[in-house]
Amino acid sequence: MIVGIIGSGAMGAGIAQVVATAGHTVRLLDQNTQALQRAGHSIQGSLTKLAEKGKLTAEAATAIFGRLQLTEDIHSFSDCELVLEAIVEDLPVKQQLFREVELLVSDTCILASNTSSLSIASIAAACQKPERFIGIHFFNPAPLMQLVEVIPAVQTRAGLAEEVRGLVQSWGKLPVLTKDTPGFIVNRVARPFYGEAIRVLEEGIADMATIDWAMTELGGFRMGPFALMDFIGHDVNYRVTESVFTSFFYDPRYKPSFTQKRLFEAGYYGRKSGRGFYSYA
Ligand code: NAD
Repeated sequence: MIVGIIGSGAMGAGIAQVVATAGHTVRLLDQNTQALQRAGHSIQGSLTKLAEKGKLTAEAATAIFGRLQLTEDIHSFSDCELVLEAIVEDLPVKQQLFREVELLVSDTCILASNTSSLSIASIAAACQKPERFIGIHFFNPAPLMQLVEVIPAVQTRAGLAEEVRGLVQSWGKLPVLTKDTPGFIVNRVARPFYGEAIRVLEEGIADMATIDWAMTELGGFRMGPFALMDFIGHDVNYRVTESVFTSFFYDPRYKPSFTQKRLFEAGYYGRKSGRGFYSYA
C-alpha cells in the first residue's frame, strides 16, 4: 500500500515510521523544509537506536528508511491509497488541505485525519466524497504508543471503519472504535486531568514539580500533567482544550485556563520551543 502523510511534525514523523515499519511505501510531506529534514533525521535516529538495541536488524532499519520518501510536492500523492494528515489543529486549514488532496488522488483513496479534537464530520464535509473519510488518531510518540482511536464520521461509508481497524491492527497497534464526539475518548477524559492540575497550581495548593511528582510517584501515571502538557506542546494542547470546550457548547467542565493560554500566546510551547511550564534550555 502507498500511504501519504501530510505534516511531518511530532505526530506525522512518528506515524510515518510506524507505517513504513509495517512494510508500506510512505510519502511524508510538509510545507516547511526544515520540519521535513528534522523528521528525516528523527526517524533515522529512532531506527538506528532500535537497531543498536537489537530490536531491528541494521538491514531492516535501512529497508524501513528506504520505504520513506520525504517530499514537499503534493503531486507525488497521486498514487496514494491512503492519505492521513497530521498538520496544525485548525479546521479551515485541514478542510482546505483535503479539498486540494481530493483533486489529486483516485476515487478509492481513503482520506484520514489525526485530529485530536475536531469533528471528523466537519473535515469530511469539505470533501467531494466524504464517505471515504475517517479519523485515525494516534498518540504521542506514535512508534511507542499502542492505542489508536478509529473514528467514523456520520458520512463514512459502512465497512470503512472495520477496514481501517484491520489495517491499524496490521501495523501492530491496538485500535479502538469511537464515536465522532469532541476529544473522542482519551482527549475528553484527559481534559479535566490537565485543567484540574492547572487549577491546583493556580490556587497555590502545590507547585508544578510537587503535583507532577505526586501523580507519577504516588498516582501511578507515567508522566505528571505539567511534564505531559510540555511534551505534547501547548500549541496543540491549548487548541484541543479550546476546541473541546466550544464543541461541548461551552460546558464549564472543559473550560481552558488563562495560565495555559498565556504560554500558548507567548510561544512557550514546551519541549519543542525550549520553554513551557518548565524550562528546557
Ligand atoms: P506539529 O506542530 O509538531 O507538526 C505539524 C506539522 O504540520 C508542522 O511541521 C507544519 O509545518 C506542518 N503543516 C502545517 N500546516 C500544513 C499544511 N497546510 N501542509 C503541510 N504541512 C503543514 O504538530 P503535531 O503535534 O504533530 O500535531 C499534528 C496533528 O496531530 C494535530 O491535529 C494534533 O491535534 C494531532 N495530534 C497531536 C498529538 C500530540 O501529542 N502532539 C497527539 C495526537 C494527535
